[in-house]
Amino acid sequence: MRSTEELCQRFRAMGYKVTPQRRCIFQVLEGNTDHLSAEEVQRRASAYLPDISLATVYNTLRGLVSLGEIRELVLGEGKSRYDPDTSSHQHLICVRCHNVADVACDVRCLELAPEQRQGYHVLGADVTFYGLCPACQGQHQENGPGQLSRVWGVTPIA
Ligand SMILES: [Zn+2]
Ligand SMILES: [Zn+2]
Repeated sequence: MRSTEELCQRFRAMGYKVTPQRRCIFQVLEGNTDHLSAEEVQRRASAYLPDISLATVYNTLRGLVSLGEIRELVLGEGKSRYDPDTSSHQHLICVRCHNVADVACDVRCLELAPEQRQGYHVLGADVTFYGLCPACQGQHQENGPGQLSRVWGVTPIA
């Protein structure tokens, strides 16, 4: 994602108004590595602008996604997260506390055999790893393989 000032310029050049709300959302996202949900962006922005609405946050996030400034992540939690780091990387999510970490994992080594491709010309892949973060390991294990497939819809690999 570009800096807040560059984003303001880009939004203006596209004919969008740069409101104090939008600028505040850019600032919350700039350099952020927490993979925030829209609700979390609103919570952080409301520390500066108490009246900022979730609709404004969603609207601005959608604009940023469509301009390719941020990446929308759908990790199976029933809500999206927004990543200002649009470089090629994958994610690791803790199934207990929902912490998300970046992983430098090259998915180009994932290959489909011709019969698996079913005539498709494959262009890319996106991989999410599910596990327990260091802080959650050793806690009571309510996330067995059954829960992983039932709650998260994920194939256990451990
Ligand atoms: Zn955790
Ligand atoms: Zn990321």
